[in-house]
Parts: sequence; structure tokens; C-alpha cells
Amino acid sequence: MKVMAFTDLTSALTKKITLKTPLISSPMDTVTESSMAIAMALMGGIGIIHHNCTPEFQANEVRKVKRFEQGFITDPVVLSPRHTVGDVLEAKVRHGFSGIPITETGKMGSKLVGIVTSRDIDFLSEKDHNKPLEEAMTKREDLVVAPAGVTLKEANDILQRMFNNSKRDYPLASKDSRKQLLCGAAIGTREDDKYRLDLLMQSGVDVVVLDSSQGNSIYQINMIHYIKQKYPDLQVVGGNVVTAAQGKNLIDAGADALRVGMGCGSICITQEVMACGRPQGTSVYKVAEYARRFGVPVIADGGIQTVGHVVKALSLGASTVMMGSLLAATTEAPGEYFFSDGVRLKKYRGMGSLDAMEKNASSQKRYFSEGDKVKVAQGVSGSVQDKGSIHKFVPYLIAGIQHGCQDIGAKSLSVLRSMMYSGELKFEKRTMSAQVEGGVHGLHSYEKRLY
Ligand code: IMP
Repeated sequence: MKVMAFTDLTSALTKKITLKTPLISSPMDTVTESSMAIAMALMGGIGIIHHNCTPEFQANEVRKVKRFEQGFITDPVVLSPRHTVGDVLEAKVRHGFSGIPITETGKMGSKLVGIVTSRDIDFLSEKDHNKPLEEAMTKREDLVVAPAGVTLKEANDILQRMFNNSKRDYPLASKDSRKQLLCGAAIGTREDDKYRLDLLMQSGVDVVVLDSSQGNSIYQINMIHYIKQKYPDLQVVGGNVVTAAQGKNLIDAGADALRVGMGCGSICITQEVMACGRPQGTSVYKVAEYARRFGVPVIADGGIQTVGHVVKALSLGASTVMMGSLLAATTEAPGEYFFSDGVRLKKYRGMGSLDAMEKNASSQKRYFSEGDKVKVAQGVSGSVQDKGSIHKFVPYLIAGIQHGCQDIGAKSLSVLRSMMYSGELKFEKRTMSAQVEGGVHGLHSYEKRLY
């Protein structure tokens, strides 16, 4: 028996980027914008900002992540007490956030009188949209404020004292050489994606993910060549692929990592509609086993429902794992909570769902060719139950992966992978009855609390 106190989860995201936590949030418009990407990077993983939006919006989300470390927002959107709840909702649509300081004149530089956050407006009904903000905001006397000129350290000290916070330290945080948080962004492979790419570069993006449900195409190969020539230091993730042959073309073109998965996502109907896809365990194993010969890490993308699935993906050769549904409906995921039958939910939808494709043309590109007249959905739109904050959920995932590795007897993820390749770590086929036995069974009722 091997007993280990600490499992090192350090793993390669791409040839040049290493993460302390092997977890990635998916580029989906109900999963990753700046709040998610900030939280994921603080926890040692990374978020990939979706591209179902204008290039300007996406680049601005990246900028928010890269600037996060400064701690201050110097040019916030502000409103006056006479503005209405409806104005906040409109600002939220335009800028993607609803934490808005309220000043006397509604301009920066005049006296602060309160703040409106989603907490103040989330549960107001439509008839409240004309309500002035002075009735909805949290008033200045209830805020923690500091004089202009306060340093970041002083501000953090004040927050810590006020909330008796043990120091919010993020020892795992994913940062670049300038100590800014790492951030990724998804793009397509069209001509106009080159403009998007330029804006993302100006915002300081660290890695771009070429977002395609079938990545082995001449468009993607050409795009990789283009990026490598124009921005040689930018890391590029190719995909999605599910076979070594598909992976080979992208590796030869210069991809710095491969995203693996087709048809396994929780919202995905690709296998049903297109008859294309592959069981995810096999895809991960086959592509990783090939790609490792070239030092190209594999991202297992889609189908992760539990922390056990993360352990399985990593032990089949993936270096990192990308998640949609598992991270959806957290506080940091885009979108508002709503109630249905007394359950608190957030929307979660496939980027190939009609719902998402109708919002913006760019998600269509992942799933369609330019000339397609008839839309064929490859995903569904639904909802997921509230999971609380990433700041609680990801530590649970990290601890769960560490326990999994300890039980297997691997003190790091690279040891885990080499145990698999050497044959020390074996897999057995489980019959249906073995699978039933592996779940909770024989109880009249039970409560499943995970963390
Ligand atoms: P999940 O973690 O099982 O929810 O899967 C998320 C993954 O599904 C994403 O990272 C994408 O690779 C994939 N995906 C996203 N939208 C769609 C869709 O509409 N159809 C099929 N796959 C999708």
C-alpha cells in the first residue's frame, strides 16, 4: 500500500504553458466570461472566453482577466440614483456586469452614494424595472469604502479586517511572467477571425483555442500556420479531434495542444444527428498516446459529470480536462439565476443549439459551413442547478482528484500517466452489474451531499 500526503497536480496545458490545477472552463456562452476565467485562473486552472459575441466584447473580457491582478477598476461604469433598475439591466447587457457604483451625478468623480450589484436586482420582477436606483441600491453607509489613493495592499487589509477573511491567498494561481492571470480565448477559422485574433492579442491573451467540432480541416491547418507565423509566441490549441490521424495533421501544422472529444458533451446531440463521434475514454487514450511522442498535451473535453470522470480522463493520458456542465450554474458562470419548481437554476446550452446559434453568427461557424442554408442543431439548451461559487467547487474537485491519485498510488499526474503507459495501472471492462454495484444501491432513500 502506498500512502501519500500530497499529490502534485501540475500538468501541461500546451507545450509552453503549465497549470498547477488541470482544469479548464469551456468556451461556451453560459460558462466562460471574465468572472469564470478569473476564478479558474486563481484556482490554478484556466478559462477560455467564448466567441459567441463581438470581437470587441471578447477582447474586453480577456482584458478584465489580464488586468485583474491590479485589483482596482479605475474606469467603472457608474450611474446616478435617478437611473432605473432597467438602466442597470441594459448596462449589464452592454458590458456584461451589473456591479455599478452610484454617484450623485452619475459620473466618475462625483460623490459615491451607493452601489448596485446583481444581489440587489436579481429577484426584482419586470414591474420593478422603472424603480429608481436609490430604492434598489445598497446605500453608502452599508459599504466598506476607502479614500482615493489607497494602495492595493491597504485595500486588501481593510477587506480582510472587515470580513475577518483569512488572507485570500491563491498559491496555485496561473500567472504569466508579469504576474497577470492567464487567460485563453476561442476563435474560429474564418477570415474575420484574424481581426478577432488581433484584438485578443492586444488584450494579452495567452492561448487561443481553435473552436471546431471537427478540427481536422484545411481551414484549421491554415489558421495554425497563419497564427504561428504572425504571433510565434502565442500558444494554439487545435481540435476537436478523436483519432490519432486527425491529431497528426494538427500536430504537423504546429498545434501546441489538442482538444479531444466529439459527441460526448452533456448538451451534445452530434452522435445522434451526424452519426459522428467516439466514446470519450477511447478518444482520449488514442490521441494522447500518439500526441505525447511529440510533447503535445491533450485536453479531455466534454462528458465530465463527476470528479471521478476527471480522474479517469487524466489516467487515460489527458493532461488537462475541459468542463462545461460541471462548471455551469456556478456564481461565476454568465447569466442570472432563476427558479423553476423551487429549484435555483442557471441556463446552460450547447454552442450548436439553435438557441445559441441564433444569438450570434460565430457559434454557427463551429457547426456549419458558410453556404449552409438549413440549420441542423448539434446541441440542446437547458438548465443546471445552482452549484455555488467556483471558489468552493474547484477546491472540492482538486481534493477529489488528489484522493483519486492517492488511492491509485500516483504522487503526481505525470506518475499517473506513466503508470498507465507502463501497464502498472490497468483498466478492466465493467459489466452492467459491476456498474450497478459501483453506485449507491439497496437503500430506501438517501441524501447525496458531495462537499
Ligand atoms: P460537458 O462538459 O459535458 O457539458 O461538455 C462541454 C463540451 O461540449 C464543450 O467543451 C464542447 O466541446 C462541447 N459542446 C459545446 N456545445 C456543444 C453543442 O452544441 N454540441 C455538441 N457539443 C458541444
